[in-house]
Amino acid sequence: MIILGIGAHPDDLEILAGGTLAKYDKLGHQVIMSHLLNGDKGHFHIPSKTLVRLRKREAKKAASLIGAKSIGLNIPDGELFSNLKTRKTAIDLIRSTHPDLIITHSPTDYFSDHTTTCQIVCGASFLAAAPLFKTKHKSHHLIPPIYFMDNVCGVNFLPTFYVDISETFKIKKRMLGCHQSQLKWLKEHDQIDMLETIETVAKFRGLDCKAKYAEGFREYEVWGRRVARRLLP
Ligand SMILES: [Zn+2]
Repeated sequence: MIILGIGAHPDDLEILAGGTLAKYDKLGHQVIMSHLLNGDKGHFHIPSKTLVRLRKREAKKAASLIGAKSIGLNIPDGELFSNLKTRKTAIDLIRSTHPDLIITHSPTDYFSDHTTTCQIVCGASFLAAAPLFKTKHKSHHLIPPIYFMDNVCGVNFLPTFYVDISETFKIKKRMLGCHQSQLKWLKEHDQIDMLETIETVAKFRGLDCKAKYAEGFREYEVWGRRVARRLLP
């Protein structure tokens, strides 16, 4: 399968689904890690222009650890709205990558960049398969199933699917470790050590499903998206 992860910011997929994406890679699936926003507001001292370049490098390095392609769509942080332009951008992301499955943010996460990403992805992934919705790329051959990642720190999210990431937790941590600018920002701005946080959350989700470490997901439960087999690894 081709798995398309669509996060809001350059480090979100690593935090919320890095172990699962690494597991897909280990099983021989093709993983694409994309983010809609360029991360230009995520620092106290580094100017936005420099930060965008740095974060692009960090995301590429993290993706390369699991042989994934990294695609950044360069929308400034906090400037993501669900409109025709972003719909077309997301449709072209989907049409150019041909995913069998999309992993993105849940509609109840903590920040509008995340929830708007979810809204845009749900709409665009349906229309990507409509040939008369014209964009730069040809229409996609299916309306892909979507799985929503856990909310940050698991707040207000009850998983209905779990992925045992005991074997890939180390690589998830290394992937997040590539985002040095964000580990610093999250410490200074939010007073949290994100490397410790992902371990706590993975252990907590693991308690729920009898695994050492786990990540939680929910399926996008609407008509036309569901299949009669397990798609998560
Ligand atoms: Zn984010």
